[in-house]
Amino acid sequence: MLRKLLPSLFALITTLLIVSSCSSKDEMTDDYDPARDYFTFANTGQFVTEHLALDLNVDFESSELRGFAMLSIRRIDADARELVLDTRDLTIKSAALLTADSSEPAEFRLGESHETLGTPLFIAVPDTAGERFDLMIEYNTSPKSTALQWLPPELTAGGRHPLMFSQSQAVHARSWVPLQDTPAIRITYEATVRTPESLLAVMSADNDPLTPRTGEYYFEMPQPIPSYLLAIAVGNLYFAPLGEDTGIYTEPELLDASVYEFADTQAMLEQAEAMYGPYEWGRYDLLILPPSFPYGGMENPRLSFITPSLLAGDRSLVSVIAHELAHSWSGNLVTNATWRDGWLNEGMTSYFESRLMEVIYDVKRVDEERVLMYRELLLDLERVPEHMQALAPRLDDTTSEDFQGGIHYSKGQLFLEFLEKSFGREKFDAFLTSYFQEFAFGTITTEQFLDYLEMNLLSEEGSPVTREQAEEWTYQAGLPDTVTIPSSENLDNAASLAAAWSGGEIDLADVSVEGWSPQTRIHFINSLPTDLSKEKLGELDSAWGLSETSNAEIGRTWFIQVATRRYTDAYEQMEAHLNRFGRGRLIAPVYGALASNGEDRELAQQMFERARSAYHPITAGWIESGLYEDD
Ligand SMILES: [Zn+2]
Repeated sequence: MLRKLLPSLFALITTLLIVSSCSSKDEMTDDYDPARDYFTFANTGQFVTEHLALDLNVDFESSELRGFAMLSIRRIDADARELVLDTRDLTIKSAALLTADSSEPAEFRLGESHETLGTPLFIAVPDTAGERFDLMIEYNTSPKSTALQWLPPELTAGGRHPLMFSQSQAVHARSWVPLQDTPAIRITYEATVRTPESLLAVMSADNDPLTPRTGEYYFEMPQPIPSYLLAIAVGNLYFAPLGEDTGIYTEPELLDASVYEFADTQAMLEQAEAMYGPYEWGRYDLLILPPSFPYGGMENPRLSFITPSLLAGDRSLVSVIAHELAHSWSGNLVTNATWRDGWLNEGMTSYFESRLMEVIYDVKRVDEERVLMYRELLLDLERVPEHMQALAPRLDDTTSEDFQGGIHYSKGQLFLEFLEKSFGREKFDAFLTSYFQEFAFGTITTEQFLDYLEMNLLSEEGSPVTREQAEEWTYQAGLPDTVTIPSSENLDNAASLAAAWSGGEIDLADVSVEGWSPQTRIHFINSLPTDLSKEKLGELDSAWGLSETSNAEIGRTWFIQVATRRYTDAYEQMEAHLNRFGRGRLIAPVYGALASNGEDRELAQQMFERARSAYHPITAGWIESGLYEDD
């Protein structure tokens, strides 16, 4: 996913969870198993799903999916007689066991619900079902499915058709399909999807750009994927090609702007292959969603889901595309075994992203992004409790789904940059290429990564890095001494100018911003001292048009300052920003800053209540916990 979600709010949530779970923490030390997925009910040690076939009707009237899921299952423990699946808010109508020569109704019951994990579905599997059987479940989803957002026409770009999309990562696939919802196992899938006739369905599968709009669509995903990569969207979607193997799906109103903004996607794909080996998934397309998509992007295989907030008009925010594409190797091809090992997905991908950006653009631009990343990491480290700061922290089902802010992204990237610097780029690239081959279509724990690293690099005669140094990164809080702090001449210059201007040494007119990247402007704004006068803020706002910016990241930076400093002259535009975007990163820190400036908590709540119907349930949940629960 992209990206460094909401450091402040998550830290608050995490703190609450940690405080409430402290008493039991010590007792649990002995039986804590780092390789176990604490976010699933599925008994994957006894049964393993190998294939999923879906047959779903998409009902916009009732905001429900209705139909069948058929799971092809292998019993790996011959004594096992009960299969446990993950569900959340699903209505299970019937279940049947199908073997080569029989079809029997299956006994099933739903267990007790858990806030994070949902509701286990227990299914009796008698001996007679044999080692391999199919399980057919008839079910429907609930309108409050945490994965699915049902947008009325007025919340789409075109305003004439409804639109629906899913977000399964991390534990939400279970709210639209009953299944073993854990990255520990992989499945292939196929699906028949029926929609209103005028709409198009797309999935994280073999989308055909030329498919006729019939209201009935068939998909196959022949490569095995973890359940969090199951994805679907339905809407008034059209396709435009970007290159031979790449293209864009979106509403017609956004098509031209998207084709312009993401024109470099084909080049990124070719460059990624040149660096780390073949792209294993066939086509690579982007789906540009309405503003309420909660993330920057989601790496659904073959079809990344992308926020329209990247449409800045100047290609300045496309590192998100590099990030989602890079996940085709780190994450989708080689997958973290559990969410505790999430840095193997996100840190590896952030590293890969910056390498791609260096080649497609230039190293100066990437250094700027590295500096901004490092600044956000330091903010995370101030807020996230120490025992959650390791790359591979101790997680259990009492941990918030997002527990580290952006630490596993940024600290993971810095760890890999340390390894690259120590062994040299050429050698480290060869290591990563063989890593992707070795673990392709598999899952991996932090410990397996460390063993592989040791076997291939650390154990060499005269290795510049020891296992202990590597483990400092994966298991210790904070940043080790071996970190290289990113730097950028452009941003250093911007920070000096910010100091000189705020100190009255120079006029704003002397700050020559011609040729400045959005990242440089962001750094200038972030470098302003806390006691800057409102007159000066106003001067900057009118000179740079900050309150009216079309660049979502500049807007985010500016409105955090506006809220923190109570610059009320721009509150109206700040609320417009909060209404315009639904991506958590862009809005949650603004709400957070407003609620914690000592005066405006109630105002923040009012603004949220006015805007919330347009937000995705995931985003609304994050903001709500920050606004109401940490009083
Ligand atoms: Zn990601």
